[in-house]
Amino acid sequence: APKIGARNVSKHYPTADGTMVALEDFSLDVADGEFVCIVGPSGCGKSTFLRMVAGLESISLGSIDIRPGRERAKPLNSVVFQEYAIFPWKTLIENVAFGPQMRGIGRKERLDTARYWLDRVGLGKFSEYYPHQISGGMKQRVSIIRALANDPEVLLMDEPLGALDAQTRVVIQEELLRIWEETRKTVLYITHSLDEAVLLGDRVILMSAQPGRHLATFKIDLPRP
Ligand code: ADP
Ligand code: ADP
Repeated sequence: APKIGARNVSKHYPTADGTMVALEDFSLDVADGEFVCIVGPSGCGKSTFLRMVAGLESISLGSIDIRPGRERAKPLNSVVFQEYAIFPWKTLIENVAFGPQMRGIGRKERLDTARYWLDRVGLGKFSEYYPHQISGGMKQRVSIIRALANDPEVLLMDEPLGALDAQTRVVIQEELLRIWEETRKTVLYITHSLDEAVLLGDRVILMSAQPGRHLATFKIDLPRP
């Protein structure tokens, strides 16, 4: 069975004069350990789909299943949005340790996990800083590793690098690739940049601007940098 199975998913929003179709009859299987990018023009329903996978939005028609793992109770998903969402009143290490804390993991283990991830993205020496003391790129790194420290079954990312300058984006793209090659985490990644989708994804789904219209889907088999 796929890790994420979306079957004939539609999303309708009620409007003053009827309904608007945000997504129509969209199906997608994501295999365990796959990095799938969805790319498409603004307004084609990418975020709506991701929010439905995350359980943050109701599904009008169809179904979405995330297959739980075997070993131990892990959160099904963690989400990273374009706007970093980290607690301003917590230090970086407390932010990263927050998910494990919510799952009842002991202080030493969760701080060790948080320290590992901060070191992993070169933020080890800033672990006691507060978010207002660091740059936007660093904050987005913290959001990403906070999601990873949760050890979710699937990592859902919605334009996570969309607000960053080009240079920072390239650096974090490379970090993401290296982390994915190590962890083989199942990732669903939304972007409006075809360049970014081709760089990061092992499979890229092109979503059409017209609901229900299937554009293309292709598998990237290029050697990675
Ligand atoms: P994308 O992420 O591809 O840019 P979205 O999923 O954000 O697209 O939006 C798809 C469509 O659904 C757009 O036309 C958008 O205006 C509409 N939409 C999104 N959220 C809502 C909402 N809460 N209410 C009404 N329409 C919405
Ligand atoms: P199949 O029966 O071969 O799955 P589909 O047309 O349903 O045929 O889907 C083929 C591929 O197109 C799938 O990978 C699916 O995720 C993708 N797809 C389906 N609906 C859409 C859509 N509205 N926009 C973009 N891609 C889509």
